[in-house]
Amino acid sequence: MLEASDRRALAAGGGSYLAVVCASQAVQLVAGITTATPLLPTLLGACTVGGASAVALRAADAAGGRRRSLASTYACHSGGSADATAALAGAALHVCFGLGVRFWALSPSSLAAEGAFAWAAASLPAGEGYASTPQREALQRFGRLAGCHSCGTRFAAQYVGDHVPPLSVASRRPRLLSAVLGRPAFRFYPQCRACSAQQAATMNRRARDLPSTLASRAVYHLPSPLRATSYVGVAVVALALAAEADVGPARRALSIASGAADATRQKLLSARATCRIPADSE
Ligand SMILES: [Zn+2]
Repeated sequence: MLEASDRRALAAGGGSYLAVVCASQAVQLVAGITTATPLLPTLLGACTVGGASAVALRAADAAGGRRRSLASTYACHSGGSADATAALAGAALHVCFGLGVRFWALSPSSLAAEGAFAWAAASLPAGEGYASTPQREALQRFGRLAGCHSCGTRFAAQYVGDHVPPLSVASRRPRLLSAVLGRPAFRFYPQCRACSAQQAATMNRRARDLPSTLASRAVYHLPSPLRATSYVGVAVVALALAAEADVGPARRALSIASGAADATRQKLLSARATCRIPADSE
């Protein structure tokens, strides 16, 4: 059974971690960095997870009223380190890379590209027309399981099939580029009505050459309970507490997080298998 000081440490660590993740995304939104930006979102996402993990450890130490920091206890158990907080934050990053975490998904969702919640398994090959009835039925299921690909909501009344890349973006591609590369391969991703309306308004403004604000081109999203990146703060603190007490709740926390992600992936694959969609050539 966890002591009260351990529960305070876990709550403070998890809460401060999520606060840093939310703040990082807000800064990226203002700076115009979105999931469509090349490379930078992955780099910033990894820095965010590492930095937020370090903040989580400091917050856990303060909330738990410890004289000796959790990170230094962990460092002693794991062979010692000059900078124990950095060692633990680095370990968290290492585990995230091992789990195949998509760091770029910590950036705001671009409305002109795949959003932060875009799963390949929850998408369908698309033409340039609207989604057919069986495709719309499949997209409703994908939306309820994986969420709107832009904002992540799994509780929308209805999901529309969003073309990625958007048709309006593809049509503005230079003719020479299209002649060399051919037409882009479109896919349908589930998108909620609110994000779809924001996307339409942004594209209309662009078509009329009106300036659109940076925030209107991307969707801010809250940390998802289905994402391993949402639990790194708690997992890092639990790892340090486990090292201090010689028990293994950290391993359990990580297996629960990765188990939840696996279960969702399996549900998506079975939903895909049961819908009447022609086999994808991928
Ligand atoms: Zn949405």
